[in-house]
Amino acid sequence: MATYHDEGVVLRTIRLGETDRIVTFATPEHGKVRAVAKGIRKTKSRLSGRLEPLTHVNMMCWRGRELDVVSQVEVVEHFKAIRGDLERLHVAMTMLEVVDQVALERHAMKAMFQMLVGALRTLEDRLSPALLGSFLWKLLVLEGVGPSLDQCVGCGSDSELVAFDPGEGGFLCRTCRRGQSVGTETVILIRQVLSGGLRAALDQPPSRATAESERLAMLAAEYHLDRRLRSAHRGAEISTVAWQGWSTTIGLDAVPADQVPDAEAAPSAGLTPGVGPVPAAGGGSPPLAS
Ligand SMILES: [Zn+2]
Repeated sequence: MATYHDEGVVLRTIRLGETDRIVTFATPEHGKVRAVAKGIRKTKSRLSGRLEPLTHVNMMCWRGRELDVVSQVEVVEHFKAIRGDLERLHVAMTMLEVVDQVALERHAMKAMFQMLVGALRTLEDRLSPALLGSFLWKLLVLEGVGPSLDQCVGCGSDSELVAFDPGEGGFLCRTCRRGQSVGTETVILIRQVLSGGLRAALDQPPSRATAESERLAMLAAEYHLDRRLRSAHRGAEISTVAWQGWSTTIGLDAVPADQVPDAEAAPSAGLTPGVGPVPAAGGGSPPLAS
């Protein structure tokens, strides 16, 4: 069997039989990879602890006909601070879920992978109020569905943008307004994020603009992904205690076999200014951090 090497961030895992798991990775060279980690649920497995959602790894896999098989794994980053903080974990899981939705199997995604790892590093360092919104806006741009911020998507005028409607494709002027109303500061913040000012945006204190940017980015992402983002809404609805239980599965072993969902949890992400500009895959993507 052929083997290959790649980096990966574990997006989620699901139990397979008595001792194995199927692990879903985001990788730069191979896109989304689903691979079996054999024996990982045995206590003495050398893989155990290395393939939990959020972990950044170097790995070698055997190429399989349907599923690949994890052969070797080396942890690059475990993101301990994120795992120890429910609020950060919630942000991370939302990012992992969006990447899981967007990534394609066997389609290289260098820019998206760099963005994910960069975002995780930022999040490991601190919880910036603008982080999740910024990550989502940039991901939408990368996917070719970023918002137009130069003019009203309704009439094309360059007058002040005061509303946002993802179904209309973005921001709207006072005459065309429908959907969500938007503050001026929010439009300024999103422009900043998407035009080279990410680092400064991430340094902003919490404000109406950071909250609104995140809420609108979530709406836009949901619209384009055509589904509610589970992590995001679950986080808002359940208690801290329940959250802790859920976040540890990120393992899910406590759940009876017949109740194991088809997709387990996954945390991750941050746009790291320190990661530097990402070479645009295909040419259109803006630098991640500049
Ligand atoms: Zn208009």
